[in-house]
Amino acid sequence: MVKLNPNYEKLQKNYLFRDIGNKAKEFRASTGIEPMKLGIGDTTEPLTPTVVEGLRKGVDNLADRDTYSGYGDEHGALALKKAIVKKYKERGIDLDPSEVFINDGAKPDTANIQYHFHPEETTIAVQDPSYTVYIESNVIAGKTGEFNKKTGLYEGVVYMPCKEENNFLPEVPKQKAGLIYLCNPNNPTGSNHDRKLAKAFVDKAIEDKSVIISDGAYEEYILDSGLVRSIYEAEEAKKCSIEMKSFSKDNGFTGVRLGYTIIPHELVVEGTSPGEVHDRWSDRQSRFFNEASIISQLGGLAALTNNGVEQSKILVNYYMENAKIIKKGLESMGLTVYGGINAPYLWMKTPNNMGSWQFFDKMLNETHVIGAPGVGFGPSGEGFFRLSAFGLRGDVEKAVESITNNLRL
Ligand SMILES: *Cc1c(COP(=O)(O)O)cnc(C)c1O
Repeated sequence: MVKLNPNYEKLQKNYLFRDIGNKAKEFRASTGIEPMKLGIGDTTEPLTPTVVEGLRKGVDNLADRDTYSGYGDEHGALALKKAIVKKYKERGIDLDPSEVFINDGAKPDTANIQYHFHPEETTIAVQDPSYTVYIESNVIAGKTGEFNKKTGLYEGVVYMPCKEENNFLPEVPKQKAGLIYLCNPNNPTGSNHDRKLAKAFVDKAIEDKSVIISDGAYEEYILDSGLVRSIYEAEEAKKCSIEMKSFSKDNGFTGVRLGYTIIPHELVVEGTSPGEVHDRWSDRQSRFFNEASIISQLGGLAALTNNGVEQSKILVNYYMENAKIIKKGLESMGLTVYGGINAPYLWMKTPNNMGSWQFFDKMLNETHVIGAPGVGFGPSGEGFFRLSAFGLRGDVEKAVESITNNLRL
């Protein structure tokens, strides 16, 4: 006999992007109008020429018997790991290539990483609102209690509310948590951590013998040097932090798939000596993973060359120009908009204290523009609306024009 994992039953039934998709479908069916998307977290610009050259090389290698290769190192190609180490080195962070685990995008490992820690004795802390994978992976693994419909929170989870009062930044929680998920810049609020905040979390994690899971999917959007782009910029962070990175948002790899997880040798948890946490993940990858696509990895290697980095900056600037256009348009109407400066997300306060979903409907009906209701990322997102800078310039301009002309305030 076999049964389904009962923890699935705990998951909140609504999945944000499915609900948004259904609303868009209904709108299309009843009006015949194609809604304009300004809420998605998916890239729209093509791959850069240097990346394409790298990917082509990967295909060419596989097309020739002399250069063909099958399975490689499940931890990733050494050349790519070395290029990543070099990128960190340029920012003053020393890593060893063995501390970098190449994967097929950050999302799966972001969900998998919690399996590395004790199944019954691990509590988690998350920013509220946050990327939903952090909580949902832990719900399914049984590391949370039930979902409380009244509060919109899962029992047994330490929430770090990120609200207007605290500039949407998490405060170091008083409670102890085993895993502390931080996303910088945060999706959906577009808020950024400075050195002091990063250090405060590192101190707390060391004191409590807990681990920070630092999601840096959007770090290349941080241009202000007073902000941190990696948790390892905080002293001693290697003792307590795992970092997740992705090629998706700065190099357009959302469909190509490539990312990496960094687990320093120095990292320790309760009952381990340095090296053990790392070595066990290395073992886990050998047993469960068969390396990211070698084509993707050659694309990633190209992305980290000087030309690749320059072209990635052009992509980032393009999206950030979109962010400026959105911000300017909304602010010209008197709306309050946060984020969108060192992050590709804008976090708009709904007018007249309207609920996030109520505003979603109003926006869709009046302007035909789709955004993401803030409450879908956590209860502290209620009263906010996420807009994304990803989109073709013409589409973004059209959407902003429709909002400024048609949204009734
Ligand atoms: C997009 C995104 C990722 C990256 O996902 P990939 O699987 O690498 O495409 C990770 N974290 C956050 C917060 C994201 O928004």
